[in-house]
Amino acid sequence: MRGKFAKVELMEDLMAKIISLSKRRGFIFPGSEIYGGLANSFDYGPLGVELKNNIKQEWWKRFVQQRSDIVGIDAALIMNPKVWEASGHLENFSDPLVECKKCNTRFREDQIQDEKCPNCKGKEFSLPRNFNLMLKTFLGPAEDAANTVYFRPETAQAMFVDFKNILSASRQNIPFGIAQVGKAFRNEITPGNFIFRTREFEQMEIEYFVKEEEWEEHFENWLNEMKQWLKDLGVSEKKLHYVDIPDGERAHYSKRTVDIEYEYPFGQKELYGLSYRGDFDLKNHFPKDAPCRDAESKDAFWPHVIEPTWGVDRSVLVAMLEAYHEEEVPTAEEGESATRVVMKFPFWVAPVKVAILPLVKNKPEVVKKAREVFDMLKLQFPCQYDEAGAIGRRYRRQDEIGTPFCVTVDFDTLKDNSVTIRDRDTMKQNRVSLDSLITTIKERLNDKDN
Ligand code: ATP
Repeated sequence: MRGKFAKVELMEDLMAKIISLSKRRGFIFPGSEIYGGLANSFDYGPLGVELKNNIKQEWWKRFVQQRSDIVGIDAALIMNPKVWEASGHLENFSDPLVECKKCNTRFREDQIQDEKCPNCKGKEFSLPRNFNLMLKTFLGPAEDAANTVYFRPETAQAMFVDFKNILSASRQNIPFGIAQVGKAFRNEITPGNFIFRTREFEQMEIEYFVKEEEWEEHFENWLNEMKQWLKDLGVSEKKLHYVDIPDGERAHYSKRTVDIEYEYPFGQKELYGLSYRGDFDLKNHFPKDAPCRDAESKDAFWPHVIEPTWGVDRSVLVAMLEAYHEEEVPTAEEGESATRVVMKFPFWVAPVKVAILPLVKNKPEVVKKAREVFDMLKLQFPCQYDEAGAIGRRYRRQDEIGTPFCVTVDFDTLKDNSVTIRDRDTMKQNRVSLDSLITTIKERLNDKDN
């Protein structure tokens, strides 16, 4: 259904448009704005939280609730620091930081191109020093080393640390997985590009435990699952790149890592990752005590791990970038056209599914009927009621937030008990009886082509 109208050539400022629409319509706001902001922090607004929840809930449904081989957890954000010692994060989770001697700006070493400072083009830098990315705080009143703790830099570790409890409580057998969705914190040296790289973000991760000899088969399965997910999120294949990380650049314990990269307006960068981690993590946490037992031989063993990982915020960002369309549409006045901005989210992603609009707001019977329709539909779908402004404007507003259907209540509704449904993508309208309205919307929302 897409692309009926000529697409206005998107200009290079797509990011600026997404950022502006996000603020204007309530997807994402700059954090702490009235106090001058806090660099690179963002708040999800009324529509953003719905969009983000749709993504997290679909993920959870697909990978936890609809599978018998994956169970979920929701672990504490702050764990015993020994976790980060065992996992290697305290020693190795760092980026090389250099400082420009001219302007004193700090960069990650790999961001210096042609040996020039990206800020002032200066050519002299301090020697690189490793900067640990874990965010520190203190538990309890004494701010000393004994009370130092870290906000988790990834959700993964709790799934290893809790492995034995989960295994015995859930009575799973290899192969099986543990899933978690939640916040992670990294004291990034150079955050930026809106919600692409922030210091506080969300991840959706799975640790999938397998027998060593079966890892390649499971790796392929997960790669396919991730491809299917991206398709369903509405991400065009031509913007995706599956980059096999070569020998020597992968973590020493990983036999294969694929970075799933996307062509953002600011360059091709990581969106998700898939990594074979061997038995590295479980051996770190259970060095003496292999946590699984072979069903036949009864020998104890450490299962191997396939780790698919999805960034929630980057998912929101690509969903918005892909959905953004500008189209030339005819206006009421003959021969004229205007640009409409429409977010063509897949229907399941859209924060609002149905808008209910009385054609006019100065006719109490029409308004009353529209409210009744809203009261009926809101029990079935995320809905919005809007009576403010000209009907054309209200349609545009719903297009801009990606609402698949607008239901308009007019004078005829009072006579024949029918309403108009307008389709976001085709802008076509048709009349539907109120008796079959819910079924019609359900059918259209489930239409697999969208
Ligand atoms: P990058 O190379 O972009 O720093 P990474 O390889 O360090 O990412 P992972 O440690 O594999 O990332 O984290 C898993 C996922 O979490 C990433 O694929 C990404 O979607 C998300 N992610 C990581 N760091 C951030 C961040 N600072 N802000 C937002 N999302 C992030």
